[in-house]
Amino acid sequence: MRYIQGFRDGRTAAALARLIRREARADRNYHLMEFCGGHTHSVFRHGIPDLLPDNVEMVHGPGCPVCVLPVARLDMAIDLAGRDDVILASYGDMLRVPASRRNSLLKARSRDSDVRIIQSAREALDLARDNPDKQVVMFAIGFETTTPQTALAIRQAADSGLGNFSVFCNHVLTPSAIQSILDSPEVRDLGQVRVDGFLGPSHVSTIIGSAPYEFFAAEYQRPVVIAGFEPLDVMASIVMLIRQLNEGRAEVENQFTRGVTRTGNEKAKALVADVLELRPEFSWRGLGQVPYSGLRVKKAYAAFDAEKRFELNERPVRENKACQCPAVIRGVKKPTDCEIFGTVCTPRNPIGSCMVSDEGACAAYYRYRRYAETA
Ligand code: SF4
Repeated sequence: MRYIQGFRDGRTAAALARLIRREARADRNYHLMEFCGGHTHSVFRHGIPDLLPDNVEMVHGPGCPVCVLPVARLDMAIDLAGRDDVILASYGDMLRVPASRRNSLLKARSRDSDVRIIQSAREALDLARDNPDKQVVMFAIGFETTTPQTALAIRQAADSGLGNFSVFCNHVLTPSAIQSILDSPEVRDLGQVRVDGFLGPSHVSTIIGSAPYEFFAAEYQRPVVIAGFEPLDVMASIVMLIRQLNEGRAEVENQFTRGVTRTGNEKAKALVADVLELRPEFSWRGLGQVPYSGLRVKKAYAAFDAEKRFELNERPVRENKACQCPAVIRGVKKPTDCEIFGTVCTPRNPIGSCMVSDEGACAAYYRYRRYAETA
């Protein structure tokens, strides 16, 4: 705890706030996207926007795995959970995410679907061992941070011949999402969203390293700073981004040196590469189809691929028209631009995924910012 407090020290935060104000030039604006929902919550929880000068704006990115999962994939998980022989093992934050037809995993569970909450992939394996007469399907979502766990579970199931375990794989890739944002019409053509630089996610980068971001820095001339999640990490990273922009540099810098290297975790990357492979297309909520942005189970492990075992197919579904999650995820709108924010849509009655997840921008605004925004 004392170690964490060192990254939350008020006096150091005040000094960093002064430094940001001194570094930010009065003759320009700085639009900095925090890719990760963990950063969005840190930014609001610690009141960082109130410490920034008016010309430094944080833009919220799509780095919330629950938020970007398309409704059609959630519907598939609900269908799976409804089968008599299936136990669906899901991380807890997926349960309240609204699916189509006002459905959710939580509602499916109340109708007798067997949905169990897990904290780790290992718990899903344990469920399969403890329930040999059932098919246990792990509902796997997340960015690169959680992917190695899934890959390891599949490999362990294969090694131990655990025939009643499979994975419904929805893992997605951070670099593809960043590229999709930079290629989006709102950023590239229409100028609706300005992104001058990125705060890169630190947890993801402990696995993939900082090297994969070098492409954006070079090709799109956008600086990236890999930032830790504590408030002083975020503020120090803002200083680093502002300095790069002032000096006309577009490089990848690593603020989170206590956890991230340039090459990442080679062992975890090799494990993922052995078990999972790129999908040619994957649909994201908010970003649409993004080529080579998702992972699926490799043929060698097809016996553990729930999409193959249960012959699952994605059906197109309509989004709730009132919900602006897709625009919020792309950074085009703020949660407070949504007409039903904080009235019809609240954490107790979420209409969209961005209000459910701990990493969602709407949940962050509701918890920490709604009074400030409406004052
Ligand atoms: S406030 Fe609710 S309905 Fe509006 S964009 Fe956010 S999650 Fe969707």
